[in-house]
This record gives sequence, C-alpha cells and structure tokens, in this order.
Amino acid sequence: MPRIQKPFMLCALFFMLLATLQACEAPPKAKLKALIIDGQNNHGVWPKTTIMMKNYLEETGLFEVDVERTDYMWIGPHYNKMEGVDDINDLLGMYPIDEQGERTLVEEPKHDPNFSPDFKAYDVVISNFGWKTANWNEITKKNFEDYMMNGGGFVLVHAANNPWGDWEEFNKIIALGGWGGRGTHSGPYVYYDIKDELKHDTSDGPCASHGPQHEFQLKTRAPEHPIMKGLPDTWMHTKDELYERMRGPAKNMTILATAFSGVEADATKENKNEGRSGRHEPLLMAVEYGKGRVFHSALGHMDYSMECVGFITTLQRGAEWAATGKVTQSIPEDFPTSETLSSRKFKK
Ligand code: ZN
Repeated sequence: MPRIQKPFMLCALFFMLLATLQACEAPPKAKLKALIIDGQNNHGVWPKTTIMMKNYLEETGLFEVDVERTDYMWIGPHYNKMEGVDDINDLLGMYPIDEQGERTLVEEPKHDPNFSPDFKAYDVVISNFGWKTANWNEITKKNFEDYMMNGGGFVLVHAANNPWGDWEEFNKIIALGGWGGRGTHSGPYVYYDIKDELKHDTSDGPCASHGPQHEFQLKTRAPEHPIMKGLPDTWMHTKDELYERMRGPAKNMTILATAFSGVEADATKENKNEGRSGRHEPLLMAVEYGKGRVFHSALGHMDYSMECVGFITTLQRGAEWAATGKVTQSIPEDFPTSETLSSRKFKK
C-alpha cells in the first residue's frame, strides 16, 4: 500500500465511524401528553391531589402534564387536616396550576358551559372530578366519547367514578361506578365471592358503599397484564376508603386487583363492620372501549392515600398503558409488601 494513502484511509474510517455512531443515537423521544381534568369534587383536597398526580406522572420522565379546570370550582366537604392549612380553600393558592383563567368558587357544583378540553390533543386524560360534579355540555360529552372510541387513553381515580350515572357511554367507559343515581338498572355487582369465584351478580340493591377508612391488602388478579407485571401477589395499601358494591355494564373489563371488605379488615373498629360486603371488591381495573384504553383506580380518597407507593406505581403504569398499550417502567424498590406499608411524603 503506498504510504500516501494511509492518512486518507484513516480519515475516511473516522468519518464512517462517526456516521455510524450518529445513526445509532436515537432522536430524543417525544413525551406523552397527559391532561388532568378537575374543578369539582366532594373530596375538597382535590387542588392538592391534582398537583400530586401531575408530579407523579412527570417524575417518570415519560409525560408532560397539563391541567384543565372548570370555571366554577366546588371544594367539597371531604378533606383532612393538613399542616399549614387553616382554610381548605387555601389549597388553590398553595397548589396553583399554570393555566390561567377566570374562575369562581361555588357552594354547590355548577354546570360550566365552556368546559371543553381538546381531548384528542392528548395521549391520556386523567379525571380528578368527583361525586356531584355538574354535567358536561353535550358537545364535550360527544367529543370525549369520540376520543375514547378512536383510541384515547383515560385514567380515573376514586370518586371520578361517582358522577353522571345517567351518561350511558361514560358508564361503559368506566365499566363500574358508584352512587350518582346508579342502581340495579346500571348493571351487575362484580366481585370475587368468599370461595374466590368471580361473580356478575344482578341482584337488586343500592350502588356503592364504603366503611371507615383503613389500611388494607390488595390482591393481584391479573399478574400478566402490563400494568401488573412484576408486582407482588399481595401488598398493603395506606389508609383509604375501600369502595364496595359498585355496579356498571362491566364489559371488556379486566380486574387487576381486589381487596376484601369485611370484618377482618376493620376488626379494631367497634360496630363499624356492620354492612360491609364480605366480598373481594375490584379496586384496580383495565377497560377497553372501542380502540380506547382505560385504567380505573378506585383508590385515592385522601392525599395520604395517594402517597402510598402502590397507588403511585399503579397510577404511573396505568397512565402509560392507557396512553400506549405498553408499560416500560420498572417496579420501585420501595414498593409495599404483603405485610409492610410504604408511602412517600409528598413535597411540592
Ligand atoms: Zn372518598
């Protein structure tokens, strides 16, 4: 080889290597777009829990999160004493959202004719609405139904399954719900009975109940589902309300986790077990609606309930699954065990 070609060849090799390296380097991944919707909830803690969920999603590095709020805001009566909070309405100032708007606090939920998020601009929508939330206008309802039917993602937590019992498509989307005018006509009770057999029970009766808040154990029912893969068979959940006796169409629904509502769970509370269902109640569910995917968590009564690492992890994984159909996140090391609670104190 003539000596003169050597630098040229080295140079060519260098540029070939550089080109290969550049081709291997993946372009920065666009984040998933998430939208939290809120503004009216009997759980008056909602301005804080919205920011908690926003942070939980953002800390995965997978999501960028917007919040859209109704112009009429209702801060309902359910909240706990919080350090540094004298008036529950102060939460609005303590946990502000970026989106500016003229908003009014109202004594009772009030219809907001202008509430009309651009659902289709998002990979996943998370509802932090609650019991008695005023109806949406018909166009917004139709937009939401179309968004879901065409492959949208939806996550609902706790009392977000309470409102709009007469909205037929919403009930199909959430599969099971509580209160909000629901009853025998809404669909069966769905649960695992005392022999651990799955029941769709059409017997007459009211829709939804719960006992006093307590810590309880969740049981995985679909270990191969992407949201649940790698989670323990059972794990302890921080103090929360255990929803029972929910009813709904319950079509295309996978029960991901249940908890037993009965005397064992509440044994320390005198006479408070009366009326408990004695069933393994579905508390985490995955629903398919058209091409859309729904993650339904009935957990999350208070801020401390949402501090449970089990709540956080299933919210993060459920939101990714609802948005994409896959879950890429690993299980955190501080995930609770069958005997031990694990929570992370929320800091802004
Ligand atoms: Zn509650």
